[in-house]
Amino acid sequence: MSRCPMCGDAVERSGIGRPRTYCSRSCQRLANNEVARLGRRLGAIELGLDRVARDLVTAADDVMPGNSVRRYRLQLRRRQEALEAQHDELTGRMRDLVSALGTTNSSTGDTDDR
Ligand SMILES: [Zn+2]
Repeated sequence: MSRCPMCGDAVERSGIGRPRTYCSRSCQRLANNEVARLGRRLGAIELGLDRVARDLVTAADDVMPGNSVRRYRLQLRRRQEALEAQHDELTGRMRDLVSALGTTNSSTGDTDDR
């Protein structure tokens, strides 16, 4: 028996066809919605990363008066790191969801208890 990746309830096996991943249609819908939402957020983060990468290249020209290029670059790097951390986190969640969608047998023996 497996567990629903959205709510943790037991998923009954019908014995016919592909084993179900989710306990219910609503959990399946929730998962699909979350995948779509994560996709949009990842897209926005990737745009932000592109912009930071561009700004780093032109930092010397873009620096505000009263700020040093060095400090401006540091700010950009911090922003880059923050975006990358968010991206990693969301990608991890996305991977979990997508693998749950795609697997026929959920071999999740290593469930992290959060
Ligand atoms: Zn469920």
